[in-house]
Amino acid sequence: MQQNATGRLKTIENRHREAIENAGLNPADFLFEAQLERARDSGFWGDDADVEFICRLADWSPSRYELIELLPLYYFADKHIRVMQGMSADRFSYPAVEFSVATEPQQLVTAYASSRRSAVVDPLVSGDAGGDSEVSPEVVEHESIVWMHAGLMNTLKVLTTHFARTFVAPAGDLPRFLNLVTGTESPREFLERLFQSRANLSGPRNHALKDAELLLMASVTFIAGHEVGHIYLGHTGVTKPLSPFVSLGNEMPTRQADEWAADGVGLTSLWDGMGIDHTWIAPLLFLALNSGWAASVADTDEPESMERVYDWVRRLVVLVRNLVINLFRNGFEPRRVEPILRCAPLVAGAVHEWVRLGGLTGKPNPRRGGINFDPFVYQAVKDVFNSLRRSGSA
Ligand SMILES: [Zn+2]
Repeated sequence: MQQNATGRLKTIENRHREAIENAGLNPADFLFEAQLERARDSGFWGDDADVEFICRLADWSPSRYELIELLPLYYFADKHIRVMQGMSADRFSYPAVEFSVATEPQQLVTAYASSRRSAVVDPLVSGDAGGDSEVSPEVVEHESIVWMHAGLMNTLKVLTTHFARTFVAPAGDLPRFLNLVTGTESPREFLERLFQSRANLSGPRNHALKDAELLLMASVTFIAGHEVGHIYLGHTGVTKPLSPFVSLGNEMPTRQADEWAADGVGLTSLWDGMGIDHTWIAPLLFLALNSGWAASVADTDEPESMERVYDWVRRLVVLVRNLVINLFRNGFEPRRVEPILRCAPLVAGAVHEWVRLGGLTGKPNPRRGGINFDPFVYQAVKDVFNSLRRSGSA
């Protein structure tokens, strides 16, 4: 754990220790060794190879208090983003920023990137008034941290597990699930299946959980990639071409354009780091979760709160649009693109409605009195595909 000695990473460990102390708990109980001991006792990690792997990740982790069950997710998300950084160097030339992915202990359902810019003046250059003094001081990014709130991680776990149990398990696995969803299934039928079982995490570890793990991994990669995107792009808005995934209208507000551009980096992280075949469902789940949530608290008479819903829906639409355009640009065969065209509107529309109607919290019971399905998100995503087909892109 030599890494903990460096100043860059102290921020994370200090934040974790502070949160543990503020909760009136003893930090020693949350060190890796103590966590590992408890995990062993619970029988969750019976496997020696698992334990050995976690110990290696503990050496990699910037904080000795990071939750060990989240470490593998952060480790691989970090890897996927770096693979993308390497693979896309010729296309996007993202700056080689250093970053760490870590848990922010608050129960919020968001993530954010913190990044401090500091100008590091090389004395060999700036001290010299003549000669090569035109060289400007080198600007170095340091302490770039992607903070994943604890509440976000819990919610992603519930969402991906419930989705895998409800849809994937009955079909067998993800490829078969995608093949099973035919054009004849209505969004309402799809939605009603989401309500057939309550969201929970219990039950035996089976194949559906393998798929849930894949979707969770893909969600974390997408979100961490999105946040690293904000670091890459310097939060500077629309003054320069941001990413090949985004073409901007002139009147687009900067904040939203930034989100779209960062989503593009998240999608590329998935694409290059994990492959796109089944992972594409994860960002759809995440954005539909947020649009559904915004809709569940929105007041239809309040333009501002409705605007928040539309912001999320637009992000969803931009994402699937870029997904499909790039599938075709990269010459994916129709048999790989068709399931996406078929399933994306259903997944997005149903998950949005499921969250909007309280499915994630399990409060209202829509089975009583029937589900009042609003096809608004389903239609918005479907319209994108139709317009792409018309324009000959798909
Ligand atoms: Zn963002």
